Amino acid sequence: MTAVVDPTCAFASVSSHDLRVPLVQGGTRIYANFDYAASAPALQQVSDRVAQALPGYASVHRGAGYASRISTDCYEASRDSVARFVGAGDDQVVVFTRNTTDSLNLLAACVPGDTVVLDIEHHANLLPWTRNGRRVVRAADTVEETVRRLVAELCAKPAALLAVTGASNVTGEVLPLPRLAEIAHLCGARILVDAAQLAPHRRIDLQGTGIDYLAFSGHKLYAPFGAGVLVGRRDWLDAAPAYLAGGGAVRQVGIERTEWAAAPQRHEAGSPNVLGAVAIAAACDTLAGFDAAACAEHERVLTERLRRGLESVAGVRLLRIFADSPDAVGIVAFTVDGFEPGRVAAYLSAEHGIGVRDGRFCAHPLLARLGVDGALRASVGLGTSADDVDRLVGAIGTLVERGT
Ligand code: PLP
Repeated sequence: MTAVVDPTCAFASVSSHDLRVPLVQGGTRIYANFDYAASAPALQQVSDRVAQALPGYASVHRGAGYASRISTDCYEASRDSVARFVGAGDDQVVVFTRNTTDSLNLLAACVPGDTVVLDIEHHANLLPWTRNGRRVVRAADTVEETVRRLVAELCAKPAALLAVTGASNVTGEVLPLPRLAEIAHLCGARILVDAAQLAPHRRIDLQGTGIDYLAFSGHKLYAPFGAGVLVGRRDWLDAAPAYLAGGGAVRQVGIERTEWAAAPQRHEAGSPNVLGAVAIAAACDTLAGFDAAACAEHERVLTERLRRGLESVAGVRLLRIFADSPDAVGIVAFTVDGFEPGRVAAYLSAEHGIGVRDGRFCAHPLLARLGVDGALRASVGLGTSADDVDRLVGAIGTLVERGT
């Protein structure tokens, strides 16, 4: 890992050289990426590990040849890296999937009973639960009251699972996960955390927090698209029908009867995405090697600067779900009075080389409760600098002053 060279970047652990995207040209940053929450550019270490794996790359669990054995070892070692990264327990397995959406759909097909969810979720953690008895609890204006509502719902009628987001993909707000895990368990339920936005920003310790199931995507964790994980307790995964029927998911196939394999293979039918698994594992190993406290501080400083800067511009409104939630990852959603979000995003890109996201962020019910039908979202990551933040705030200020 290289040392920081840019003094304007408060980030003490990682320099932009760890990232693949050419952020700097001739000493000037040409692109300010504020769209990490959508997908984060692959780390150099991830790219290197994938490049190393490519020459020996072969189908896993299917051959005695050298390349197949090496690939099988890499694939299985990747599971170990993910398990270590999230502090998985002995009874928790790592299933490789395509992404968080896939992981949540897989778990939804395994849950033996009702699932309780909040109405603030990304669609990926809302829609799959319709397969079970989905019970949607309306989040309150405070975290405290929201927790009380969840307790009431879980006490009123037994549920198998409480499915919550680790960090909101719209506002970055973080729920008190250890407390929710305790409550779920006291009420006889398990807890799933959609960590698509949490995992890139915070260290997660499944055993320490009591989280039963966790889902996240490689492409938000500084790895490429195409691979995600579901980490979780084995018994439900072993008892459920195979997610996909096909080769690799079975022990023995007869015309009359099929004996399915145990998890994780049970839910990984077909030739698996070995390079995707290698990439996620590389991201996990690399992030685990960074100074977590420095990463969190870097993000806190930048996010605070961004919030304050945007709030200082007339007509900018920051969006929040909870009045009492001090904890949030580096995601800031906002609107600019008199300006349609899509236009602002296009202006930022065309005139300032700044990438943000606009729209409804696959969270239509949440946007509706926030009282807007669209917004802008700026999210920070490992490559973000204080200069980037100032550039974004300055650009919004210029737009508002200009008035068109
Ligand atoms: N959950 C959250 C909180 C997200 O932010 C996203 C993507 O933005 C997803 C789930 C879905 O992730 P993917 O598109 O990688 O499946």
